[in-house]
Amino acid sequence: MGAPLHGVSASPGIVSGTVHLLRWEVPEVPSRLVSDGEVAGELERLREAVAAAIDRLRVVHARAEANAGPAEAAIFEVQVAMLEDPSLRESIEALIRQNLAAEKAVDLVLLEWRERFGRSTNPLMRERASDLIDVQIRLLTLLLGLPDHDPVDLARGDGVILVTHDLTPSLTVQLDRRAIVGIATDAGTRTSHVAILARSLGLPAVVGLLDATQRVRTGERVILDASNGVLLPKPTAAELSAFADRAQREAEALAVLSAEAVGEAVTTDGHRVALRANVDLPDEAVRAVESGAEGVGLMRTEFLVVGRAAMPTEEEQVEAYRNVLRAFPGQPVVIRTYDVGGDKLPVGGFPHEPNPFLGWRAIRMCLDEPAIFSVQLQALLRVAAEGDVRIMLPLVVSVDEVRQTRFLLEEAAADLARRGVPHRRDVPLGVMVETPAAAIAIDTFAGEVAFLSLGTNDLVQYTLAVDRGNASLVTRFTPLHPAVLRLIARTVEAGASSGVEVSVCGEMASQPLMAFALLGLGVRTLSVAATGIPLVKRLVRGVSLAAATAAAQEALRAATPADVERGLRAALVGELGESTLDGLLGLG
Ligand code: PEP
Ligand code: MG
Repeated sequence: MGAPLHGVSASPGIVSGTVHLLRWEVPEVPSRLVSDGEVAGELERLREAVAAAIDRLRVVHARAEANAGPAEAAIFEVQVAMLEDPSLRESIEALIRQNLAAEKAVDLVLLEWRERFGRSTNPLMRERASDLIDVQIRLLTLLLGLPDHDPVDLARGDGVILVTHDLTPSLTVQLDRRAIVGIATDAGTRTSHVAILARSLGLPAVVGLLDATQRVRTGERVILDASNGVLLPKPTAAELSAFADRAQREAEALAVLSAEAVGEAVTTDGHRVALRANVDLPDEAVRAVESGAEGVGLMRTEFLVVGRAAMPTEEEQVEAYRNVLRAFPGQPVVIRTYDVGGDKLPVGGFPHEPNPFLGWRAIRMCLDEPAIFSVQLQALLRVAAEGDVRIMLPLVVSVDEVRQTRFLLEEAAADLARRGVPHRRDVPLGVMVETPAAAIAIDTFAGEVAFLSLGTNDLVQYTLAVDRGNASLVTRFTPLHPAVLRLIARTVEAGASSGVEVSVCGEMASQPLMAFALLGLGVRTLSVAATGIPLVKRLVRGVSLAAATAAAQEALRAATPADVERGLRAALVGELGESTLDGLLGLG
């Protein structure tokens, strides 16, 4: 039996399986010089490594195409083309002829190329810098004789628990979903994007384990108790049997919740709450319908971009948005424009920024790159002709950004009209309230937006100045801080006085105590991952709005997050009883 490792529950569930330790990072390369007589041998080693890397990429390409589709797999063709590029090969060979060992020559040349691509003014060239990293890792792994940690090509059979330092969105979308039964990472928090994707995929995940990659090995059996944020290495027979009992009980409890999830969410005193789904991957829509969602409150379109060789075309986007829309006939589907940048693009995809969360991302990037943004807006206007599509802008700090987008929307509509393509011109345009600037100056948006949606993951991050993805700050990321609650209350009041809907689509909406507080603050529309809908419905049906309102008023007057939490918990115990509440908290 190994000592249990404690992290943060990112996506609930309990599974047992075999570790696949993923180290997808550029290895240390020792400096090594070779004699003139060894140069020919080094050139041959390079040739063999390049050939082996190309062979491997062809296998990976086929696997990714089967798992994720041709567009997602195209990235591997790009990497093959890089390896076949004569100028890359010649630069490496030139260094070998100057007596550098093959691995050192590869390391230096790829570093230089990455820097050059990263500085390019063309965003797609910058995006290619991350492919160069992959090529560098692949070649160095071969030349240094290191174990192959390919993240895409996993053996199926006994469930794989992927253990890694961190997982970029681009790697996550390419993973073989049939092989992996759980994810454990050293880094990350409940609101980091790996956690969000794991919930979308319905994969149990524990993040913020800090040093799990040092404590387990590939092939080792582990239990991942993601509901409690625990990774248990080398379980004993007794632990495995206790695990099987718990897994069965949890599955039964979830099945009961899911069976109850059809129908409306109405509080015990008769107030209706709309529960929509957050859709991160386009093929999730069906699961969202099955879990009882009444429309989509947030479709994160950046997952159409990450890990891809090129930006999705207008047609590809129309198809992706249409698939989601068709799953929800007559119901609203809120599609967010690209929120790339920050932690949402692969490493190297954008120029290195010292402070990416405060940097060139989301609506800023879209407005600066109208060629990219217009394609998305045209796709959205086209799909809007087929149902209740609403467009939502991320990371807005000023109503100027809404006005500029409106201008681009008008241009997009004019362009579609010129091309004779059916579309809807007057699509509702709303914003995410996820910066203190937007929440404090919320009155300035009145009359200019059709709806507001609180993105509490970012709102908490920017209000408390706590990086949402930093595992060592996890206890300081406190959505129940009175400052956050006051910004939410302010936004809800502004929405009510200007007659626009205010929803919450951040993770707060999926956690029982926080969802209760949000109801009490006046929010009537919550959007959560499909897997979280049954639980939130159960919560809403078990509480009265009167109790939630009283608890929220008390929370607004509290001094600390801990005080707020205590008060909410006491009020919820009063509504649900202690054991039901603990049961719900365990499943969230
Ligand atoms: C948020 O910030 O709360 C949100 C919903 O958006 P994302 O998590 O994609 O940044
Ligand atoms: Mg956000």
